[in-house]
Amino acid sequence: MGDVNSIWDAKFLEYDVAVIGGGIIGVNTAISLAEKNSSLRIVILERGIVPQGASTRNAGFACFGSASEIAADIDLLGPEATFDLVYKRVSGVHRLLDRLKNHNVGLENHGGYDVLLQGFAEIDSSMHVMPHTTLQRLDEINSLLLPIFSVPVFHAVPERLAQHRFGAYATHLIYTPFESTIHSGKLMYELWRVAERKGIQIRTGFDVQDIQSETVAGITQHTLHANSLGANQHTNTQPPIKCKHVVVAASAQIPMLTNAYADLEIVPARGQIIVTSPIPNLAINGSYHMDGGYYYFRNVGNRVLLGGGRNTAFEAEQTVALETSMPIMEHLERICKSVLLPHTNYTIDHRWAGTMAFSSSKQPIVKTIAPGVTVAFGCNGMGVAMAAHVGNLAANCLP
Ligand SMILES: Cc1cc2nc3c(=O)[nH]c(=O)nc-3n(C[C@H](O)[C@H](O)[C@H](O)COP(=O)(O)OP(=O)(O)OC[C@H]3O[C@@H](n4cnc5c(N)ncnc54)[C@H](O)[C@@H]3O)c2cc1C
Repeated sequence: MGDVNSIWDAKFLEYDVAVIGGGIIGVNTAISLAEKNSSLRIVILERGIVPQGASTRNAGFACFGSASEIAADIDLLGPEATFDLVYKRVSGVHRLLDRLKNHNVGLENHGGYDVLLQGFAEIDSSMHVMPHTTLQRLDEINSLLLPIFSVPVFHAVPERLAQHRFGAYATHLIYTPFESTIHSGKLMYELWRVAERKGIQIRTGFDVQDIQSETVAGITQHTLHANSLGANQHTNTQPPIKCKHVVVAASAQIPMLTNAYADLEIVPARGQIIVTSPIPNLAINGSYHMDGGYYYFRNVGNRVLLGGGRNTAFEAEQTVALETSMPIMEHLERICKSVLLPHTNYTIDHRWAGTMAFSSSKQPIVKTIAPGVTVAFGCNGMGVAMAAHVGNLAANCLP
């Protein structure tokens, strides 16, 4: 029997940094690292053949929080922490789009709406936001966020309600011109291209099973083993990757990989989405939020994408399962019919789910939990806005 690897294989198997997870945080971390030090040998290890997490399963909002969500955050976190979060989201979107400025990510600037609902409790008993509360707080929110946007960010636009042809539950609209939508597939595809152009290697189908660390003469080295996928016909196993630093950007899967080092407070949160058939003369154009951000919808061409409803089953939705669930699907369909498109014929053509990793503070968590092992997660449902910022923080954790 010969050796499993040849003497040349080390070139493919040894790196300065391995980033686990090819989602929006992992790739931004790798790009920030390469921008800091172009001589670093960096590899991204992704379990899927394509990025298999929330980054390609989301709704594609480049958003910073609806008026109702920001009002709720002021009550929960206080004005200073809320300002800080909104500032990070807005600057994070700019940083991400700047990184991709010569790439087509399907960016559309039609602005965003907060659709305020009345009587909605009849179809959703867990309704969070009473419409008049947010409307009465617009001046407070606008003056808090004035240093970020330089002009009032939110406006009540009652005159635009009729043109949307919503159902009777929708009673008020708040508009911001500062929200956009992107095509999440194009965004991730182009981010991977940016990473590859910077010399970062992306290894797909590498499902990291564990991280083994060893310190010899003060130098720590990590060995990352993959689950056997039978990808290598010769040995029926993937050869392990060795590296000096690991950044674990595997979202809700992080505890599975790091529990030996630290007990991290990560709450998995499943998000679910439905997409309609094409609708002629669709009145919905841009991005929309409802009930404090617990529901969100947008147009994708002339289809409607609607997601959310986690608030109707918080415990059941704290899962990494990727299947859609019948109660949430039925709930979203009811909302689509009764609020969004009451006068329209359509079918539901697509349904999917994805998992997020929430932190209790709503702040991203970037932390070195052992020598050479850093974790990065916690965009709390706003990865498009936060990931470039989180990636930069993670890159700064490395010497
Ligand atoms: C339904 C839904 C709608 C959303 N809508 C929006 C939105 O409109 N706007 C917005 O800003 N945010 C939205 N989000 C949130 C956003 O998608 C996330 O905040 C963001 O994608 C998190 O990025 P991430 O890189 O941490 O995680 P992920 O994209 O989940 O990436 C983690 C990666 O790690 C890989 N991985 C996991 N375990 C391993 C392992 N052991 N070995 C190798 N690889 C591994 C996974 O395959 C995955 O590709 C939404 C999320 C969901 C679920």
